[in-house]
Amino acid sequence: MSECIFCKIAAGEIRAAVVYRDDRVIAIEDLNPQAPTHLLVMPVAHYDTLADAAEDGRLTSALVAVASRLGRERGGARGFRLVVNTGPQGGQTVGHVHVHVLAGRAMTWPPG
Ligand code: AMP
Ligand code: ZN
Repeated sequence: MSECIFCKIAAGEIRAAVVYRDDRVIAIEDLNPQAPTHLLVMPVAHYDTLADAAEDGRLTSALVAVASRLGRERGGARGFRLVVNTGPQGGQTVGHVHVHVLAGRAMTWPPG
């Protein structure tokens, strides 16, 4: 069985606050929110990184579409930020690709 925490969430083996779900994509509330809205949009199927998931262009566009819709719903006209940390130097800590959706405060640049 997979030891991946997000695979377990997608399978319903670990509880999470699910805000969206379809056949291929699931979105949850981040456990340690960095903004008033902080969601994670991920594929149900396991891919380590965005670079791996990008082999399936329909999947990556579905991830961006769901993340953008949720960002627009939560951020409204004030906007939102999508982040995909990729690999160790990219700051990725969970090895199952996910898109962060951040909204509800002004974001700063550059990111840390
Ligand atoms: P990253 O560092 O980009 O890989 O992001 C991983 C994110 O997953 C972090 O923002 C964590 O707060 C979040 N996270 C880790 N475990 C859980 C969990 N069980 N439920 C919800 N979010 C989680
Ligand atoms: Zn996984």
